[in-house]
Amino acid sequence: MKRLLQAPNLAIATLWADMLSGAGIAASVQRAYASGIAGQIPPDQALPEIWLEDDDQQARAEALMQELRNLPQRHWHCGACGESVEGPFEQCWNCGALLVANP
Ligand SMILES: [Zn+2]
Repeated sequence: MKRLLQAPNLAIATLWADMLSGAGIAASVQRAYASGIAGQIPPDQALPEIWLEDDDQQARAEALMQELRNLPQRHWHCGACGESVEGPFEQCWNCGALLVANP
């Protein structure tokens, strides 16, 4: 098991894990708590993480995630205010929160 990355919210984490699984990379969503990643996020937030079953697939998984992030169109839900955001935007139009907090 190896941590691939942190997702801005559970919906996106699930989407990414599904995409990785669909590409033949066994991935799971783990709930991360502030105590384990102190300093990276506000202490009142608990962000989900994507974990890989097989450490050897990390490079391929990272390449896939890079492709996903470069897609011109997105549909996501803001983790901060819950707004639905569509289009090539990485920032919520309603509250300004970033889609990817840790690029
Ligand atoms: Zn928002």
